[in-house]
Amino acid sequence: MENFKIEVDGDGIALVTFDVPGRSMNTLTGKVIAEIGEVVERIKTDPEIKGAVIASGKASGFCAGADLGELGGQAGAAGEDKRSEQEKLQAAFDGGFALNKAFRALETCGKPVATALEGLALGGGLEFALATHYRVAAANPKLQLGLPEAKVGLLPGAGGTQRLPRLMGAMKAAPYLLEGKSMSAEEAKANGVVGEVVEPGKTIEAAKAWVKTGDPVAPWDKKDYRIPGGGPYTPTGGQVFIMGNAMLRKQSYGNYPAQLNILKCVYEGLQVPIDAALRIETRYFLKTMQSPQARGMIRTLFLSLQELGKGASRPAGYPTYDVKKVAVLGAGMMGAGVAYVQAQAGIETVLVDVSAEAAEKGKGYARTLVEKAVKRGKMTAEKGEALLALIHPTADYADVKGSDLVVEAVFESRELKAKVTQQAEAQLADTAVMGSNTSTLPITGLAEASVRPANFIGIHFFSPVDKMGLVEIIMGKETSEETLAKSIDYVLKIRKTPIVVNDSRGFYTSRCFGTFVQEGLQMLAEGIAPAIIDNVGRATGMPRGPLEMNDDVALDLAYKIGQQTKADMGEQYVAGPVDALLEKMVVDLKRYGRKNGKGFYDYPETGQKTLWPGISDLVEITTKDADKALIEEIRTRLLYRQAVEAARCFEEGVITEARDADVGAILGWGFAPWTGGPISLIDGVGVKAFVEKLDELTAKYGSRYAPPKLLREMAANGETFYGRFGPKAAKAAA
Ligand code: NAD
Repeated sequence: MENFKIEVDGDGIALVTFDVPGRSMNTLTGKVIAEIGEVVERIKTDPEIKGAVIASGKASGFCAGADLGELGGQAGAAGEDKRSEQEKLQAAFDGGFALNKAFRALETCGKPVATALEGLALGGGLEFALATHYRVAAANPKLQLGLPEAKVGLLPGAGGTQRLPRLMGAMKAAPYLLEGKSMSAEEAKANGVVGEVVEPGKTIEAAKAWVKTGDPVAPWDKKDYRIPGGGPYTPTGGQVFIMGNAMLRKQSYGNYPAQLNILKCVYEGLQVPIDAALRIETRYFLKTMQSPQARGMIRTLFLSLQELGKGASRPAGYPTYDVKKVAVLGAGMMGAGVAYVQAQAGIETVLVDVSAEAAEKGKGYARTLVEKAVKRGKMTAEKGEALLALIHPTADYADVKGSDLVVEAVFESRELKAKVTQQAEAQLADTAVMGSNTSTLPITGLAEASVRPANFIGIHFFSPVDKMGLVEIIMGKETSEETLAKSIDYVLKIRKTPIVVNDSRGFYTSRCFGTFVQEGLQMLAEGIAPAIIDNVGRATGMPRGPLEMNDDVALDLAYKIGQQTKADMGEQYVAGPVDALLEKMVVDLKRYGRKNGKGFYDYPETGQKTLWPGISDLVEITTKDADKALIEEIRTRLLYRQAVEAARCFEEGVITEARDADVGAILGWGFAPWTGGPISLIDGVGVKAFVEKLDELTAKYGSRYAPPKLLREMAANGETFYGRFGPKAAKAAA
C-alpha cells in the first residue's frame, strides 16, 4: 500500500498510519479509497490483530477530505475533461459509493477501531473518523472537525449526514451539516463526537488504551439504540425539518440545493437502519452533484480558487521575485490595511504619508488589528510585536529606497498620484515594481507619469484589506509580463488571490458591481418599493440589497459619477429618472448615504438602520406587494444585469479568463456564491437561453440589457464560456 502503513504492537493493536506521499495534507483519492478496503480486510482477517488505531503521518492533521478534482467527476477549471456526462456521473457515483462501502466495512469489521486526531479532519476526513468506533482529539487550538461540503454546494456523501446526527442528535448536528461549521476539540467532546481530549502528541496512546477494551459495535448497530434527542418520528425529530427549513430560508433563501438535500437526507435517513440510510445519502449526493449550482461552486470556490492561489495566471519563464521590502504610499484606510497584511507575511514595510504623525496613525491601525488578534488568541504577543516592528512609518520619501515594490494608496487624484509616483521612482531600482491601488483611474493614464511604464501596474485591494481575499491586478498598455509575474509573486506572498484584468474604466470588479447598485436605483425610480428591492436582492444571494449598497458606497459619489459622465458625453447624454432621483437625494436633501447617517435608510446612532419613509414623497411607489412574478423578475434582473456586464468585459478584452471572472466576482463584490459566479451562471443557463432572456429584458427596460455581439456569436455556435475562455483554450490560442 502506498498511503497506509500498518504496525502491530505487542498487544495486538495495529497502528494504521495514513500518509499520502508527496502531499502536505492527506486527501481521499481513488487510490486511498481502494486501500482503505485493503486496510479493513487486514484488520478483519489478521488473527494477530485485536483492534486498530488510525492516525495521520502528517503534521498538518488527519485528512482534509475528498479530492474533489478527482472524485467530483470534474476536471479542474484548467483541465479539459474529455469524459462524457454519463462517465462523469458514473465516476462520482463510484467514488461516493465506494467510500460509503469502505467506511461501513470498517465500522462492521468486528474489532474495535479508534481514530487519533492531532489536527484537522474535514469532510471525508471526519467521515472516515466517524466510521471508527471511538475518536480521541488533541487539545490543539488549530484542530478543527467539520463537514464543510455545504459551503461548496456539496453534500457529505460518505456517511456524514447519517453518523453525525446519530452521534450528537439531529437538532444539534443541523448547523454543522447545513452551514459547514467546524468544531474545536472541546466542542467535539461536548457534542459526543470525540470520546476524550488529550495533550497534543498523546492521542495514539489514548486511542490504544481505549482499543484494549473497546466496543467493536457502533451504537446504531445495537438493538436498543436511540437517536439523541429523538428520531424524526418523535416530536423533537420532526422539528428538525421545520427548524432546518426555517434556517435555510433565513440564511440562504433556499438558493443552495445542497442544503435542502442535506436536510431531506437527515430527515429520511434517520427513519431507517444505517445501511438503508447510507443508500439514501448516496442518492442525494448524486442528485446534488448533478445540479449546475454544485458544479459551478465546486469549480469556482474549490478548483479555480486553488489554482489561482498557486499562481495559475502567472506568466511562465520568470524567476520567482523575492519581495522583501515594500513601500506603501498613503497611510489611510487602504494603505494601513496593506501595511498590516504585508507585515503579517514578513515583508519589511515603509509606510509613507504627508507627515510623520499621519504615517504613525496608519501604523496605529495595524496595532489595533494586532491587539485584537492577540486578545482572541489568534496571535502570540511576541509575534504581534515582531509584526509591528516590520512597519516603518515615515514622511520621508528617501526611506522608499531599496524597495522591491511600491503600493501607491494616496487620495484618488490623478495629479497627486503622478507626483508621488515620481517621488517614489526617484528612489527605486530599475527592477522595482510600481503598483497603484486606484479604484477608478485607468492605469495606462497613471503610467504616463512613470519613467518606467513597463514596471507600472494596478494592484487593486478591497476593503477591509485584512479580510478581503481578492486582489485585482490591472495591466496597463505598457505593463510588461515580467512586472505581472512579479506582482503575482507579491500577491501570493501576502496570501491573497490574484485575478488579472486589462485596463478599463472601473476595471472588472467595480464595473460589474456598479451595475448591481445602479439597477437598484432604476427599480426604485420605476416605482418598486425599496423594501421589496432590497429583500429580493439579499434573497438572490448578494450580501446586501442594492439600495443598502448604494448607501454604503455613498449617493453623492454616484451623483458625481453621473455628472462626470454627462460632462464627458455632452449632448449625447440622455438624463433619466435615476438622475432626477439622485439629484433630489443629494443636492436638495443632502442624503449622502451611510456616511452622513441619511440615505435610502436612516442610521440612528444606536440601533438598527430603518428604511427612510420620505422616499415615497420622491417616487410614486406602485408595487406594494411582492408577488411571485415580481420577485422572479427582480431576481433575474439583478443577476443578469451583472452577468451581461461581465460578458461585455470579455468582449472588450477587459478580462480573458472565465476562472478569474468567477472568482473575482464572488470574492470581490460578493456575487451570489450559489451560482459559481456570473460566468458559471451564464454557462449553467446556457448562452442561447441567456441571450433570449436578455432580448426580452432589453425590450422591456432598455439597452443596458442588450447582449453583446460575442454572446450572440457564442449562442449561434453553441459555445460555453468555460469552453471558449477556459485557461487551456486561451493558451492554445496564444
Ligand atoms: P484615505 O483618504 O483613507 O487615505 C489616503 C491617504 O493618503 C491619507 O492618509 C493622506 O494623508 C495620504 N496622502 C495624501 N497625500 C500624500 C502624499 N503626497 N504622500 C503620501 N501620502 C499622502 O483613502 P483610501 O480610502 O485609503 O484610498 C486610497 C486609494 O485606494 C485611493 O486611490 C482609492 O481610490 C483606493 N481604493 C480605496 C478603496 C476603499 O474602499 N476605500 C478600495 C480600493 C481602492
